[in-house]
Amino acid sequence: MPTSHVVVVGAGIVGLAHAWMAALRGHRVTLLERSPRAAGASIRNFGMVWPIGQPAGALQATALRSRARWLEAAQGAGFWIDPCGSLHLAHRDDEAAVVEEFAARAPDLGIECRLLSAAAVLERTPAANPAGLRCGLWSPTECAVDPPEAIRVLPGWLAARYGVECRFATAATRIERDRTVVIETAAGDRLSCDRAIVAGGADLESLFPRELAAAGLTRCKLQMLRTGAQPGGWRAGCHLASGLTLRHYASFAGCPSLPALRARIARETPELDLHGIHVMIAQTGSGEVILGDSHHYDEAIEPFDSELVESLILRELSRAYRLPEWSIAARWHGIYAKLPGACQWRAEPLPGVHLVTGLGGAGMTMAFGLADEAWMEWDDA
Ligand SMILES: Cc1cc2nc3c(=O)[nH]c(=O)nc-3n(C[C@H](O)[C@H](O)[C@H](O)COP(=O)(O)OP(=O)(O)OC[C@H]3O[C@@H](n4cnc5c(N)ncnc54)[C@H](O)[C@@H]3O)c2cc1C
Repeated sequence: MPTSHVVVVGAGIVGLAHAWMAALRGHRVTLLERSPRAAGASIRNFGMVWPIGQPAGALQATALRSRARWLEAAQGAGFWIDPCGSLHLAHRDDEAAVVEEFAARAPDLGIECRLLSAAAVLERTPAANPAGLRCGLWSPTECAVDPPEAIRVLPGWLAARYGVECRFATAATRIERDRTVVIETAAGDRLSCDRAIVAGGADLESLFPRELAAAGLTRCKLQMLRTGAQPGGWRAGCHLASGLTLRHYASFAGCPSLPALRARIARETPELDLHGIHVMIAQTGSGEVILGDSHHYDEAIEPFDSELVESLILRELSRAYRLPEWSIAARWHGIYAKLPGACQWRAEPLPGVHLVTGLGGAGMTMAFGLADEAWMEWDDA
């Protein structure tokens, strides 16, 4: 039986995750999304569920719990998912050193991955550039989803399976606390509930702007590209990252050779640091390849995409990977909010009103697990 009424604001992955975990616990859930359909970071990403990027321990465990939820949701809702795993490619000696160190420490850290020779990498994927390939790091835990499909299918499934009431084109404009939590919408409706979760992504101005301004969140813009479906049913076989990515995720931070790799990249190709470029590829179920990305942290997000940044991304992609067809079918940018040094930001500005954002580049990987943990805490309290 329903135990309380919960209103979730925002139908990105964070809002959807909190709505699902609340419904699983028997709460009655209303989901409000200001757009006619979700259009934020959650449909603009690679669709990589990426536990290998999380530091060993609690965060990696949260990522793996999220992964299990993704598989469960895909089966229930009927969207495409591929538990394809991932490869980090090492084309330089310093990249190979980091990959070897990580693979050697992985069993002690409880991380499931292993070092592959260049030949073994090329057996696993036709997408690795064989020229200069030293070795690769194989991890079986990553999954691929097609973000626009998954994020747009999930609300219908939550409605049909759990009775979640989804209201699109409904902006929450004000939230206050009287005897209950009251949410006012742009249409002038007033919804009363026991608890509200505000998962507005990178919108740091509309609701609780003072709390969000004081939180230390930064906004990041990322440029992305997508090819059309690759010809002849070509498949990459797994997600791919190049040696540049080793400097991006916290999981590799403890590798003794990482500072030397960082220093070499800064010396040889400072433009990559300037634009925060590392290159990854993900293939959708229909064969398109999602390519990216860059990272520009700034309060004021530049609305125009840079051709220079795109050309640098494509240059680095072509160094690390081989695709049958590189023609670009779509270009876009996404924006996320990030709390430096943390996996998310949460606050309760009014009793029963929770703000959740700041998952940075790992929202698809972490949202289900973090939402599950949040609901455990709230229900226990
Ligand atoms: C280019 C790019 C690539 C990425 N790749 C990956 C990846 O491969 N793997 C990974 O794990 N993570 C990835 N990320 C990170 C991930 O996409 C984000 O962490 C995640 O999508 C954030 O989800 P969210 O729900 O907080 O925000 P959003 O998806 O932006 O959703 C917020 C929603 O709230 C709605 N909203 C805001 N205010 C209101 C209001 N007042 N009333 C009603 N609705 C409101 C907005 O319209 C929006 O739909 C990537 C991000 C980007 C930008």
